[in-house]
Amino acid sequence: MMRTEDAAILVLNAGSSSVKFALFQADTLEPLCRGGIEGIGSRAQFGGAAGAKAHLFDGAVLPEGSSHEAATHWLLDRLRRADNLDLCAAGHRVVHGGPDFSAPVVIDDVVMTTLEALIPLAPAHQPHNLAAIRAVAKAWPSLPQLACFDTAFHRTMPRLAQLFAIPHALTDQGLVRYGFHGLSYQHIADVLPDIAGDCAKGRVIVAHLGHGASLCAMREGRSVATTMGFTALDGLMMGMRCGSIDAGLVLYLIEQRGMTAAEVSEILNRRSGLLGVSGISNDARTLLASEEPRAAEALDLFAYRVVREAGSMVAALGGLDAFVFTAGIGERSARIRADISRGLAWTGARLDEDRNAANLTCISADDAKVPLYVISADEELPIARAAAGQLVPA
Ligand code: ADP
Repeated sequence: MMRTEDAAILVLNAGSSSVKFALFQADTLEPLCRGGIEGIGSRAQFGGAAGAKAHLFDGAVLPEGSSHEAATHWLLDRLRRADNLDLCAAGHRVVHGGPDFSAPVVIDDVVMTTLEALIPLAPAHQPHNLAAIRAVAKAWPSLPQLACFDTAFHRTMPRLAQLFAIPHALTDQGLVRYGFHGLSYQHIADVLPDIAGDCAKGRVIVAHLGHGASLCAMREGRSVATTMGFTALDGLMMGMRCGSIDAGLVLYLIEQRGMTAAEVSEILNRRSGLLGVSGISNDARTLLASEEPRAAEALDLFAYRVVREAGSMVAALGGLDAFVFTAGIGERSARIRADISRGLAWTGARLDEDRNAANLTCISADDAKVPLYVISADEELPIARAAAGQLVPA
């Protein structure tokens, strides 16, 4: 891949109901523009763009009722018509890299075929990721493209951390713990040394607490355990997902209640979590503002589940040197961070209430044995960094 001085890298992050994008200067990785389209499938809307090249989207209005495909096409069309935009590469967030991809990969036909075969492992996300790759190939046929995987960061986990206690023949067919949110964890691993110094080399738990939520146990910046599993339904309680539950409960719903797989999937993926327990909302902000006892119970359970799973991560690490909060809830809810920190007091973590309320980067007390950090999530920058690493100067 070649680059000129003014070249830019396009990053696309196609989620189940959104398409986020970012442009980075290829040499410096300075962000030039970020934005996104949200609410695809219900009321798709362009959420605006920010940064030095935001003017590319001045007056931009997404047509009503836009599908994923239409939204991506609309976005690429605007970029294609932009003057002074010299794209040298595109990087994509791809949810599933399966057992084989443990690092970003340059996309070619063989890679695309492999990624298509992984669609059954992530049916709500992978097709959108691959459609975005095809759309970019159509808009810029010779542009090099890179796939960066949510699962790749966790391929460093020891074998035992990847195994389920199921018949080994199923394990051999790829039914293992893959783990997700890997790009978010990669970003934290990249920036933590500058923020936490030597602690970053030690035993660190990162809590990605957004609509989806998971924990990653890291040693020397590499994943050694994580809460999400074969799918992104496992582990913590989330906005709408249940997280870990007894598999026997799933069987009961099917065998005794006569539910179909689709009905059970709807309950566990879309009607559980904060939404299901509260009966009010999947949005932590709404629950924090509510006086309803069920809203409080949902938030209490959310923090309790984080603490319980964090205990398991501490065991996998053999101790704890630092704890990091990231993503929507982790970055913005002082109350939920306080609840979780209280539950982690036994590790030596201790919050400084004022620092926490002020959303500072370090929110622990000076004498805490385990420092607590708040770091903004950025899934696009590690993709741009990986793409820049593949480029050679023109
Ligand atoms: P995604 O996983 O879709 O990227 P985000 O990282 O944006 O999601 O996180 C979304 C979650 O963050 C929602 O539950 C939302 O309620 C929560 N959130 C955003 N801002 C706040 C806030 N100020 N206080 C509490 N929760 C917040």
